[in-house]
Amino acid sequence: MFNNDIIDSFKTIDTPFYYYDLNILSETLEKLIIEANSKIFKVHYAIKANTNSKLLYLIRNHGIGIDAVSGNEVKKAIEEGFDNKDIVFAGVGKTDKEIEYSINSKISCFNCESIQEIQVINDISKKSLVTSNIALRLNPNIESKTHKNITTGTKKNKFGIDINDVDDILILLKSLDNINLVGIHFHLGSQITNFKVFDKLCKIANTTNKKIFDYGILLNHINVGGGLPIDYNNPEKNYIPNFSEYFNVYKKNIILLKNQKIYVELGRSLVGQCGNLISRVLFTKKSYDKNYVILDAGMTELIRPALYNSYHKISNLTSIESTFKKYDVVGPLCESSDIFLKNIKLPFSKRNDIFRIYSCGAYGKTMSLNYNLRNTIKSYYSDII
Ligand SMILES: *Cc1c(COP(=O)(O)O)cnc(C)c1O
Repeated sequence: MFNNDIIDSFKTIDTPFYYYDLNILSETLEKLIIEANSKIFKVHYAIKANTNSKLLYLIRNHGIGIDAVSGNEVKKAIEEGFDNKDIVFAGVGKTDKEIEYSINSKISCFNCESIQEIQVINDISKKSLVTSNIALRLNPNIESKTHKNITTGTKKNKFGIDINDVDDILILLKSLDNINLVGIHFHLGSQITNFKVFDKLCKIANTTNKKIFDYGILLNHINVGGGLPIDYNNPEKNYIPNFSEYFNVYKKNIILLKNQKIYVELGRSLVGQCGNLISRVLFTKKSYDKNYVILDAGMTELIRPALYNSYHKISNLTSIESTFKKYDVVGPLCESSDIFLKNIKLPFSKRNDIFRIYSCGAYGKTMSLNYNLRNTIKSYYSDII
């Protein structure tokens, strides 16, 4: 709950804006470090969830690495002081420039998503007279039972290498002198609430790890990706994700050979609950049988509801009314999908009330758009408000 001082200061700031509670982030990271025993696990933060420098500073201070999915994300991580040895680079389509930049920056590993990509990394590495570490991002064809637009590990998805091609790749690797296979990588999707999916992943990872070992290559790590969900329905009660259950699944089920490590790449679960979108009511109106609250934030500031039909809890921070009404809470943009929530019960709301949209720390600001020539949204923090 925000106290009255915070709400009073919100009233003085131009809306919309993001508000980050750095105490929540710190608490989350502390819990993560306790649960992710560093003898077995190495954590990388999926920087695409949020590239905010203040958040990155705290993340880096907890000894966490970076999972990047573009050259600019690799660059950002380096600029923010992350050690190149703690950066891995994934992504289904890397440009030659991005590959060259990452090789020159001596990042720890490329997570490769096609045979052609491995060959290109080999060629560029040869020119630079280096050997590059790669992991194979494998598509295990597992249904992750999350929203279809954030499912990534089935045979219908563009991501990864068909797991049936591993044998061919092992043979190919013999002829690639500038490639060093150091890991296998899986990422089944995001916001995966059914942990049985991770059990399945472990079985496939174990079989593949063993197969590669029998072939004569001892991998350095098994990367199991991200996917740990956050509680969008009860963000205040459950603001720390279930790290212990998540890490236990892997501790119990992944069979490590010699000194292998398990890499995890967490995005949403680290930063999701520390971020809020704060917005002002521009207008209210009744049209036919619906009551609308029209906010000054829309899908350009938070696209997840429009893109994935996702739920974000919303509250009116300033209403002192005791009567309630059902509203559609919408944004100002010229798009019918610019809706945050339909038919929700809120205290009677009026022009200039301040609204809080919860759990916006991940895939909020980083997915914001310039559509309708909207202004770039600002961020404020709990330590300076
Ligand atoms: C997006 C992404 C992640 C992070 O997923 P979360 O569900 O946000 O934890 C991890 N790995 C890869 C390769 C990704 O693309």
